[in-house]
Amino acid sequence: MSNTTFDQIGKVLREHQHFAILSHVRPDGDALGSQLALALSLEQLGKEVRVWNEDGMLEKYSFLPRAELLTKPPGAPDDVDVAIALDTAIQNRLGTALAAVRAAKIWINIDHHRSNPSYGDLVIVDPSAPATGEIIFGLIKSQALPLNHDIAENLYAAISTDTGSFQYPKTSARTFEIAAELVRVGGLDVGKISQQLYESYPRRRVELLRELLRTMRFSEQDRVAAFTLSLKTAADLGVLPEDNEGLIDHLRAVRGVIVAVFFEELTDSKVRVSMRSKDEAVDVCAICQKFGGGGHTLAAGARIRGSLAEVEEKVLEEIREVFKRKS
Ligand code: AMP
Ligand code: MN
Ligand code: MN
Repeated sequence: MSNTTFDQIGKVLREHQHFAILSHVRPDGDALGSQLALALSLEQLGKEVRVWNEDGMLEKYSFLPRAELLTKPPGAPDDVDVAIALDTAIQNRLGTALAAVRAAKIWINIDHHRSNPSYGDLVIVDPSAPATGEIIFGLIKSQALPLNHDIAENLYAAISTDTGSFQYPKTSARTFEIAAELVRVGGLDVGKISQQLYESYPRRRVELLRELLRTMRFSEQDRVAAFTLSLKTAADLGVLPEDNEGLIDHLRAVRGVIVAVFFEELTDSKVRVSMRSKDEAVDVCAICQKFGGGGHTLAAGARIRGSLAEVEEKVLEEIREVFKRKS
C-alpha cells in the first residue's frame, strides 16, 4: 500500500477538532516525544487533543516539555473524531488506548517500522526514517504547522533516543539537518537534554545491569550474545519496565557480536524478547515476525508464550538456523 501525502494528512488535521494521539505500550522516547510534539502543534492550532498511552508518562521522560498532557487512556470511549497512532508497528500494541478511541471516524498511522501492515485510513510508513519524530518534523514543516521551543525539544528527544544519540545506521545528513534546525529554532540546550536523557538514570538501573551481566552468555562463535531478566530478579531489585530500555546495547557493543538478545520474563506467562543486529544480512525483524513480533531490520521484538527456558531455546535455535544458512 502506498503512503498518504503530508497534504492529505494536513487537510484532515485542519478540518477536524477532536484528536487522540496514541503510541505503543512500553513506550520509548520516540513514541512519547512524537506524541507530545504533534499534540502541542495541534493545540497551537486550537484543536482539542488527547494524548494517551497505556503505560502513562514514564518517570524518566517526565522532563519533556508539557509531559503532563500524556495520560493513561480512560476506560470508556471518548469523544474523538480522529485517532492518530504514532510509532506503533501493529495496532494491538496500542493496548488499552484502543478502546478509548472507538468513536474515531478516521485513523491516521504514522510510523517507521518496516513490519507495519499499514492499518488505518491515512498511512505514512517510512522505514528509511530513523525515528517517527523525523516524520513528524516533515509533516509539521510541509504543512506549516506551529513549531516552538516545546515542540522542538520533544522532537529532538524523539530523534536522539531512536538513533542511539545519532549513531545508528539510519542516521542521515537529513537527521543532522533536522536536529540543527530544532536546536536553532527551539533555542535548545543540547547538553541539558542529553543529561536528562542519558545521565539521570536511577541507581537501580545500573544494579539491574550488574544482574543482567551475570547471566550473559555467548554462542555461535561469540556472534550471539544474550542475557535474561527473571521476574524474581526484577522484584528483588524493584525495577520498573522502563529501566531496561537501552541495556541491550551493552551486548551489541561487544566486538564480534552480531546479534544481541534480551529475554525478560513477564507476568502473563510470556517472555518479552528484544533483539538487535549489527549486520543487515541478519534481519532480526524477520526472526521476530516468526514469533508474532516485528520491528526494524536491526532492532526488533516479540512477546512469546512460554517459560524463560522454553522461549530462550526456541529463539536461540531460530538464530542458529539463520547463521547456518548464512555461512
Ligand atoms: P525493543 O527491543 O522493545 O526496544 O523494540 C525494538 C523494536 O521492535 C522497536 O522499534 C519496537 O517497536 C519493535 N517491537 C518490539 N516488540 C514488538 C512486538 N511485540 N511487535 C512488534 N514490534 C515490536
Ligand atoms: Mn518506539
Ligand atoms: Mn521509533
